[in-house]
Amino acid sequence: MTEIALLGVKGGPAIRPGSPMPTSHLLQMDGHVVVIDCGLGVSQGVIGQGVALDMIELIVITHLHSDHYLELGPLLHTAWTAGLKRPVMVVGPAGLARYFEGFFASMAEDIDLRIEDEGRPDLRDLIDLRLLAEGDVDTGTSLNISAMRNEHPPIDESYALRVEGAVHSVVFSGDTAAIPSMVDFARDADILVHEAMLTAGVDALCARVGNGDDRLKKHLLRSHTPAAEAGRIANAANVKVLALNHLVPSDDPEFTKEHWLAELEGTFRGTVRIGRDGMVISL
Ligand SMILES: [Zn+2]
Ligand SMILES: [Zn+2]
Repeated sequence: MTEIALLGVKGGPAIRPGSPMPTSHLLQMDGHVVVIDCGLGVSQGVIGQGVALDMIELIVITHLHSDHYLELGPLLHTAWTAGLKRPVMVVGPAGLARYFEGFFASMAEDIDLRIEDEGRPDLRDLIDLRLLAEGDVDTGTSLNISAMRNEHPPIDESYALRVEGAVHSVVFSGDTAAIPSMVDFARDADILVHEAMLTAGVDALCARVGNGDDRLKKHLLRSHTPAAEAGRIANAANVKVLALNHLVPSDDPEFTKEHWLAELEGTFRGTVRIGRDGMVISL
């Protein structure tokens, strides 16, 4: 059984009334429970899928933009108070070591208290932190995961992930501009979860939330992928299902599912899913 839940599908860290949540995914494959990225809302998202937090075995963080790891520490801390007793492998860029140092320092009062008062194991000993780099990823499970550096300036340490189980393969683009190497990386996958931007919506977005100069628009255009490009990549890679996530814009009522489908038209001949929070794709 393979099941991917898109827990949060908006691109970027800001949330507003009516908007979806930042990026996180729950992948259940061959009996393993994996979380990919931990944007705000990930804990609620996981339990919303009926999965207990202490079931999580592996967490992979694709890059250190806050919309992908702001809730990493809180997720693990909450799993701990929900009964976590065995180590969880966390794989991500080098900066995560500093993140955990700071997180544990900020919560030391509480963590020490619960160890003493409730007899819990030390949370700091339950995090098995590994470095994410190109190539094969340590998973501690039967799943094979490989990482490919993508293109997400100004961040260098940003990766796409391919997860291979006994039967299925799933690819996550991570945050990236459209890159030709994604075609080979995603070749014949059952599902490609690709980030996407609605070209027609970018100007409207920048006018609404930008800071008045053109830096936001420039960032979006050189670091992210127009929906039509995601469609062409999925088609060339011969994937079965293309799921769009990290949607930009995501909370402008002027732009609907029909706009996304219109930009994809004629690009991809497989099944398309336009992500929304809590959407489950089963194989
Ligand atoms: Zn992002
Ligand atoms: Zn990013």
